[in-house]
Amino acid sequence: MLTIRDLSKTYANGVTALRNVSLNVPTGMFGLLGPNGAGKSTLMRTIATLQDPDSGSIRLGEIDVLADKDAARRQLGYLPQEFGVYPKEPAITMLDHFAVLKGIVDAKQRRDVVEALLKQVNLWEVRGHKLGGFSGGMRQRFGIAQALLGDPKLIIVDEPTAGLDPEERNRFLNLLAEIGENVVVILSTHIVEDVTDLCQNMTIISRGEVLLSGQPHEALASLDGRVWRKQVVKAELAQLQTLHTVLSSRLIAGQPVIHVLADSSPGAGFEAIAPNLEDVYFGKLRAQAAQAA
Ligand code: ADP
Repeated sequence: MLTIRDLSKTYANGVTALRNVSLNVPTGMFGLLGPNGAGKSTLMRTIATLQDPDSGSIRLGEIDVLADKDAARRQLGYLPQEFGVYPKEPAITMLDHFAVLKGIVDAKQRRDVVEALLKQVNLWEVRGHKLGGFSGGMRQRFGIAQALLGDPKLIIVDEPTAGLDPEERNRFLNLLAEIGENVVVILSTHIVEDVTDLCQNMTIISRGEVLLSGQPHEALASLDGRVWRKQVVKAELAQLQTLHTVLSSRLIAGQPVIHVLADSSPGAGFEAIAPNLEDVYFGKLRAQAAQAA
């Protein structure tokens, strides 16, 4: 559905944000996972036709996105990281205004569309409330309603769950999953759990490079039998980090618990565990860092 080939971008200050990025993004939820500064927003903005790459191509179905931006924009809904709204406007008025901008000129049609969308994102009851009084989760759901105007085939959401409490986050992700049944939804995030349960396909990017691309269960299978856990004491942590590929270290009840990547048992006290997506993520980031060193 969405095909990205060899996309590269170096900013004027010399930072290379994308290096030959190639991705196939099918219908459904697609997780774009990477640390801050990985190039996620650059990629999102490029797909959303808001900035040009130095080279590469993007196709959305039959549309050459970079050559025919107007056609691409008609198929596209975007929820940017910083989504500004007029705080004094009621939700319904603002969405109606966005609908006009999206080209829905017929008043009756617009009323129907706005009503259906506010119901879909569960804001119909508060449609008359001012946006400035909305919680973070409500604002994001309003942002999705806005992105869905005009029946887009591709929805792009950039770091949408940052700052949401767990309940709002769940509600928001479930909404995205429902939308993803019919269209392509690209969810950019640095939060591994956002991708774990919801995304049928994913990619990990870091320093502008694609480190992995595929289905989460395949990524997990690639680490089967290779992730080991041990509770350690703080004093030995630094040494273990030099001896092993430590994927993560987390304090559990005050004691560090580490995950180590190794083809066979790293030593006494380590137990083999089922890998999780965070292990995959940190494993890829470690390997990239080791290669760069
Ligand atoms: P992410 O969304 O994954 O945090 P970004 O795409 O925002 O990553 O940034 C990737 C890299 O490009 C970072 O090093 C960032 O500082 C740099 N960058 C982003 N936008 C610009 C810009 N307009 N000019 C210069 N550098 C930029």
